[in-house]
Amino acid sequence: MTAGPLTLADVRGLHRRWLAGAEFDIGYPNAVDFDVSTLLRLFDVTLNNVGHPFAPTTGFSGHTLGLEQQLIRELGAMFRCPPELVTGFVTSGSTEAVKAALLQARRRFRRRVVVYASAAAHTCVAKVADELCMRLQLVPAGLDGVMDVAALTELVAQRPAGAAVVVVATIGTTMVEAVDDVPAVHAALDAAGVRVDRRWVHADAALAGVPLAMLDPADRPGFDFADGADSLNISGHKYLGVPTPCGVVLLRTDRCPAADETPTYTGAPDLTPAGSRSGHTPLLMQAALRGFGITGLRERAATCRRNAAALVELFTAADVPAWRHPLGFTVVLPAPSEQLRARWPLPAPDDGWTHVICMPGKRFKVYQRFASEYLTDRRNTTNRHQSDQHAPDQCSSDPNPNPDADQLEDAIAC
Ligand SMILES: *Cc1c(COP(=O)(O)O)cnc(C)c1O
Repeated sequence: MTAGPLTLADVRGLHRRWLAGAEFDIGYPNAVDFDVSTLLRLFDVTLNNVGHPFAPTTGFSGHTLGLEQQLIRELGAMFRCPPELVTGFVTSGSTEAVKAALLQARRRFRRRVVVYASAAAHTCVAKVADELCMRLQLVPAGLDGVMDVAALTELVAQRPAGAAVVVVATIGTTMVEAVDDVPAVHAALDAAGVRVDRRWVHADAALAGVPLAMLDPADRPGFDFADGADSLNISGHKYLGVPTPCGVVLLRTDRCPAADETPTYTGAPDLTPAGSRSGHTPLLMQAALRGFGITGLRERAATCRRNAAALVELFTAADVPAWRHPLGFTVVLPAPSEQLRARWPLPAPDDGWTHVICMPGKRFKVYQRFASEYLTDRRNTTNRHQSDQHAPDQCSSDPNPNPDADQLEDAIAC
């Protein structure tokens, strides 16, 4: 783009390019069926939620703190937090939400704290622990991506004397959407002799929290407040389909230390790690929740699971060892060639596996098109390997592939 004002033509061009790229965007868990058109009118007003949604506020009227408070109460009910104990706020995403929860845990215990998370936890846990100078101990995960709770007991039993224990349970891991079982985590802490008032279990439910909450608790792993979580987060741009990053941290007031009552110039105590916060994202999340409604949220999840199951069948019928967790949207499969991944931007982990995620609003025929290209790619790759046994394949072993311009544009657009 050349310098100068962004013209309508520029915007249209960008819009077309991003929409075209979205056709290939099956590796990232963003729902695309949330219709924001009725809310666009609100983007010409300044909405700034400085401070905390539960704090009294005076002065500046351009905020959505009331709506944010409702959102926290409704999500608290969805995740079975006692209504009189729920608090929390909207964040810039799950990373900031995890940080806010760990910060509260650290303030609560004030003493040495060790954070435990599975090796399959999102990388934000390590980043946040480092930022907060909290010691992190990774716990092995099984091949299915679920935290090994026997290993958790062993590791926790070796904690420094007097240290409090924070466990980040992952409710839907990034790669395979595995769900750590919060009651099993508590049992592991019991076995390691951790006092109830010296532990904090956070549920990082960025993607899978809302869809799992739509099921009967008897039919899903335990992860919410009634199952023993002390705090929980979700992302707004994943299952809810909000088109800009955002998230929520839910906390129990009886677990949080006394609030910092330092008054600010707006009259609201600033309990949140951020200063100014978006007033639009609470509105967008609330609109998504209300718009879909419980029935819609449940049906969307059922559709995603059906699509994921159908996709696994498509692959396994062709002898590809694809698999999924029965309640997940994520289909795990052997990573295809660099060329195919340049066209379809999928994660490229070092263990040789990748995934596609069936998200609301993404049409099944796109996944079918991917599957058919994947099967061709797999046949070609296998044939090449068989015929080139003595000549290493330059393409697939090149650590710095240089995709052509079209492919690069797709990758950027996604
Ligand atoms: C996506 C994700 C995150 C990070 O969320 P952001 O909203 O991108 O900060 C953290 N944990 C899990 C389990 C995730 O899926």
